[in-house]
Amino acid sequence: MLRTHTCGELRIADINKTVTLCGWVQKTRLMGGLTFIDLRDRYGITQLMISDSVSDKEGYARECVLKVTGIVIERESKNKNLETGDIEIKLQHIEVLNTSITPPFTIEDETDGGDELRMKYRYLDLRRNVVRKNLELRHRLAIETRNYLDKQQFIEVETPVLIKSTPEGARDFVVPSRMNAGQFYALPQSPQTFKQLLMVSGFDRYYQIVKCFRDEDLRADRQPEFTQIDCEMSFIEQEDILQTFEGLTKHLFKVVKGIDIPKIPRMTYANAMKYYGNDKPDIRFEMKLVDLKATTSGKNFKVFDDAETVIAICAKGAADYTRKQLDELTEWVKRPQIGATGLVYARVNTDGTLKSSVDKFYNEDDLKNWAQVCEAQKGDLILVLAGSEDKIRKAASELRLEMGNRLGLRDKTKFSCLWVVDFPLLEWNEGDPNLLASLAGRWHAKHHPFTSPKPEDIELLKTNPGNVRANAYDLVINGVEIGGGSIRIHNKELQAQMFKILGFDTEEAQKQFGFLMNAFEYGAPPHGGIAFGFDRLCSLFGGADSIRDFIAFPKNNSGRDVMIDAPSEISLEQLNELAIKTTI
Ligand code: ASP
Repeated sequence: MLRTHTCGELRIADINKTVTLCGWVQKTRLMGGLTFIDLRDRYGITQLMISDSVSDKEGYARECVLKVTGIVIERESKNKNLETGDIEIKLQHIEVLNTSITPPFTIEDETDGGDELRMKYRYLDLRRNVVRKNLELRHRLAIETRNYLDKQQFIEVETPVLIKSTPEGARDFVVPSRMNAGQFYALPQSPQTFKQLLMVSGFDRYYQIVKCFRDEDLRADRQPEFTQIDCEMSFIEQEDILQTFEGLTKHLFKVVKGIDIPKIPRMTYANAMKYYGNDKPDIRFEMKLVDLKATTSGKNFKVFDDAETVIAICAKGAADYTRKQLDELTEWVKRPQIGATGLVYARVNTDGTLKSSVDKFYNEDDLKNWAQVCEAQKGDLILVLAGSEDKIRKAASELRLEMGNRLGLRDKTKFSCLWVVDFPLLEWNEGDPNLLASLAGRWHAKHHPFTSPKPEDIELLKTNPGNVRANAYDLVINGVEIGGGSIRIHNKELQAQMFKILGFDTEEAQKQFGFLMNAFEYGAPPHGGIAFGFDRLCSLFGGADSIRDFIAFPKNNSGRDVMIDAPSEISLEQLNELAIKTTI
C-alpha cells in the first residue's frame, strides 16, 4: 500500500505517529509563513502543515494527487466540523503523484457547476461528498436487500441481456445481430418471462438486482436504463408476497435508516382513485377528494350544474389564504399540465362565517353544507374543481399534492408506505405515446400480459373485460411507486385467452410467447412476484426527488450520456457488417 492511513482516520490518540497519506488537494492556504493543505480521499479530509511557505504552489494546486509523510500533532485551533479536526500532520516529505489542471467546477458540497457540466465531468462530480454518499447509500441498500432475501432462501440468478423484442409493454431498445443479418435482439424491459421460467424449473425463490431498459420519453424519475430488485416466488398467494416484501421494506428502513415502519396499510385501486385521484397516493397527509356534485347542484351555478364531476379538497388551516395567493393558485390549476378551467373556493373563517368565490349562487347555509360534507372546520379552506371525470379527478389529485407542498405536509424525513391492491387487469389504449402506434385502439395489460385475473372475475373477461380486477399490487411510499407485481397466469389456456383479448391472434401469440406457453405444459407451479425500482428506492431513502444522483453515470433528459457522448453514429463499415441500410 502506498499509504499507512486514510484521510478520515486519524484522531488525537494517534499523536506522535509517523504516517503516510495519499489523496487529492482540496485547498491550500498560506498563513504566517506556514502552508496548510487539506488532503481529501473517500474517507475524509486531513489537514497537512508545512512549516515553510511552499514556493512551488503549482505542484499543490487543487485536485493534484499527493503522497505525504509526517508526524501527527495536536492542532492549535481545532475544527469541530471535521472528524479529523483535532489533529494535523506536520509534513516531512511530499511526493506529487500526479498533477491536475483546474477543474471546471468546485469539488465542494455546494458546487458552482451546473447540471450539464457536472454530467460531462461526472468523474469529478463523483469526488464530491454528497454524490459519493448517495452511491454509498445505494451500496448499503443493495447489500441489505441481498442479506434479507438470502435469509429468506431467495437465490440470485442472472438472466440474459440480449433477448427477444415483444410488441407488448413499452418500446424496446434493440441490438442488431451481425451473425444473423437483418435480425435484432432486444434489451429486457424486465426479466419477467425468464423469472417465470425459473419457477417452472423449480427454483422456488428467485431474485436479481438487475438492469432493465425501456425506450420511453424521459422524466426526472426515469432513465432509459434503470435497476430493479426483481423477485419471483412459487407456491404462494398474493398475501405471501405482500408479507415477504413488507418484510424487506421494514428491514431496509430499520437497518439503513433506523426507522421502524408500522404495518403497511392497504387500499384498493378503486378507493385510491376515488379518494386521491391517483393510483399512488401520498398518504403522509389526508386531504381526501370529496364528491361535491350532489351538494352543489340545482343552485343555478351553470359551471357546477353542467359538470360531470365536482370535487373538493379541504386544506386545513388555509382560510387565511390571501386573494393574491388564491389568484395565483387559480392560475396554477389552469396550466395545461393540470388542465382545470378555474378554481372555486370557500373560506371557513375562524369566527365561523363562510365566504366563497361564488356567493352569488350559494348562501351561507349552502356553504355550511359544503363544509359538512368536506369535514371542514373553522380556519379551513375548501377548494373546488369541476369538469369531466377523468380530467378533474387527476387535476384534483395534483392540486392536493400542491397544497400538501404549500402547507408543509410532505416532509421528506417522514415515510408513509401503502399497498395498493386490486388493480384492473386491462385498460383501453386510446393511443399512449409510450407504446407503438399499432397498439392503439386495443385493450392493454395494465401491469403486463402475464398477470392473473382474480379467479372470481374470470367470467367477466368475455363480457366486460374493463371491469376485471387483477391479483396485482403496488408498493407506494410517499406517493412514489416503489414496487409492483402480480400473481401470474400459470395455465396455458388462460394465458392464450389473455393474448387474444390483447389483440394477438393465435399464430402471433405463439410466435412471440410460445416458449412460455409451451413451458406451462410441463408442470408450471402457481407463482407470482414483484419488482422494486431500485434507483427510486435509493433516491427516496436519500430524500431526493430525482434518481439521477443515485446512479453513478446517468443519462440526461434526452437519454444522452454527455460524458462519453452516447448514443453516437457508427462507421459505414460497422453498418455494413450489421447489414443495416441507411440513407447516409
Ligand atoms: N416485471 C414487472 C415490472 O417490471 C414486475 C413484476 O411483475 O414482478 O414491472
